[in-house]
Amino acid sequence: MPKFIRDGCRLRRIEAKGCVWWASHILLGLALVVNDALPVKAVSLSQVIPRRKIIVVDPGHGGHDLGAVGPSGLAEKVVTLSVAQKMQDILSGTYEVHLTRNDDYTVDIEHRTAQANHHRADIFVSIHAGGGFRHQARGVIVFYQSPCTGPGSKPSQQRRGPWEIREKPLPWDCIQEVHRAKSQALAKLVHRHLLGKVSPEDRGVREAPCLVLRGADMPATLIEIAHLSHPSEERELRKPEVVSAAAEAICEAIKEYFTSTLDSQQDEAYAPSALSTF
Ligand SMILES: [Zn+2]
Repeated sequence: MPKFIRDGCRLRRIEAKGCVWWASHILLGLALVVNDALPVKAVSLSQVIPRRKIIVVDPGHGGHDLGAVGPSGLAEKVVTLSVAQKMQDILSGTYEVHLTRNDDYTVDIEHRTAQANHHRADIFVSIHAGGGFRHQARGVIVFYQSPCTGPGSKPSQQRRGPWEIREKPLPWDCIQEVHRAKSQALAKLVHRHLLGKVSPEDRGVREAPCLVLRGADMPATLIEIAHLSHPSEERELRKPEVVSAAAEAICEAIKEYFTSTLDSQQDEAYAPSALSTF
C-alpha cells in the first residue's frame, strides 16, 4: 500500500507537471496570437518624456566687434554677455539653454542664426544694448523681423513665359514670415516685462530688417535693453543689479510665452500667393 501510494503520488505528480507544461505553452501561444492580432501603437520617447523647450540666447557682438561703447568706455559686448549668462543661470533649471558665444570672441552673424536652427530652438533672442548717433538716444526697443523683401522673392524674376510660371518655394531668408505672429507676440511680452528695468524711456516694439533674425526658423526677437551711448543708461548698465533685473525681465517674458497659449498655436500656414506681394 505505501508503495502503491508513493507510485500513485509520483504518477499524479508527473501528470500534474505535464498539465502545467501544456497549459503554459498553450497560454504562451494564445498570447502570441493575440499580440499579433492587436494593432501595434508606436510610442516614441518624446511621448513618454516631454521634450524640454530649447532657448538660444545670442549675446550681441564679441571679440573685435565691441558693439556700442559708452561715454566712459563700457562696451556693449560685455553687457550683452553678462545678460545672456544671467539668463542661462535663471532658465537652465526648466529649459535647455544655449548661448551663441560663452566668452569674448567673434561670431559671424550668420553663424549665430545657424546655431539657433541647429539646436532646433523654440525661441531665439538676440541681446543688445545699442547706441545711437545722437547722445540723447535712449530707452528700450524690442524688434521683430519686418516682412521679407529679399531679392529672390519676386515671382517676376523667374518668369520668361506663361509655361515657366511656377510656385516658388519660400526662400530661406524669408523663413521668419512663418513665425512672424509669434515673434511679434514674444517681442511684446519682452517689451512689457523689460520696460522700466534699465531705462524709463519707452521706444516701443518695432519691426525691422534684422540680419541676425533673418533665416531663424523659430519665433525670434532682437532686444535693445537700453542705449549704452546715453551717459545715464551706461551708468545703469554698470550696476550688476540692473543687469540682473534686465535678464530676469526677459526670462519672465519667455516663461509667460511658454505658459500662455501662444506657444501651442499653429504657425501661420505658408501661402505661396503671399509671395506676390513681396
Ligand atoms: Zn548691438
